[in-house]
Amino acid sequence: MAQQKLPDQVVRIGPDESFAFSCHRQIACFTRCCRELELALSPYDVLRLRKATGLHSSELLERYLIAEQHPEDIFPRFYLSMVDDGKASCVFVCEQGCTVYQHRPGACRSYPLGRAASREKERLDVFFVLLHEPHCLGFAEHTIQTVSSFSHSQGLEPYNRFNDLFTSITQHEKIRQGLRPRPDQVQAYTLALYDIDTFRTRLQEGALAGRENAPETIFSDDEELLGYALKWVEEEIFSTR
Ligand code: SF4
Ligand code: SF4
Repeated sequence: MAQQKLPDQVVRIGPDESFAFSCHRQIACFTRCCRELELALSPYDVLRLRKATGLHSSELLERYLIAEQHPEDIFPRFYLSMVDDGKASCVFVCEQGCTVYQHRPGACRSYPLGRAASREKERLDVFFVLLHEPHCLGFAEHTIQTVSSFSHSQGLEPYNRFNDLFTSITQHEKIRQGLRPRPDQVQAYTLALYDIDTFRTRLQEGALAGRENAPETIFSDDEELLGYALKWVEEEIFSTR
């Protein structure tokens, strides 16, 4: 994989390299990173936020997510809303910290570590970076971490697993070759990946293709359902032309 030039504050780090970092409530910058940010959400992030809030996915989408699709974007992007409080704070931050901490998005867990996955057919290349932003004082702490110890401590395994599956759609070979999904296929993408409760209901009602092949476990297990939804979207977009 060709190495890209990275911005000044970003340094590449190997999976076994160590770095000093710790984040805790007593640190002066506590929650500083929960403001003025563009927080793009993956389907798995939304699944977890839905668990945290207890909301139906369509209500979560309406209340807390902002959808954007610029002309150059192949798929819409979904961002977490920020509050208009002069500091552009995340909707889930309060004085004591994150109100959805157990189910916080993957980017919040991994910060200041970044993980990028690049897919070429079945091959997935993964690399890591550290983001040194001046406001983050965690680098002055003396706790030694590695990419794997930090990722494990932040509970990133399921996020990485689902995000890697997600690249089967966003970085599909046919996309690389120039395929652009039709509007109805983009709608199917949004429904299945970002409004999963409605997707499940419509599947149960037989209103969508694929009900006959769907295992019953997807109707009682959210992660099974998301795994199925990812395959369903891939089929809808890439196998029907
Ligand atoms: S979800 Fe939680 S950790 Fe992430 S930006 Fe919002 S308050 Fe901070
Ligand atoms: S800015 Fe860095 S150290 Fe401060 S709360 Fe955020 S992640 Fe933790």
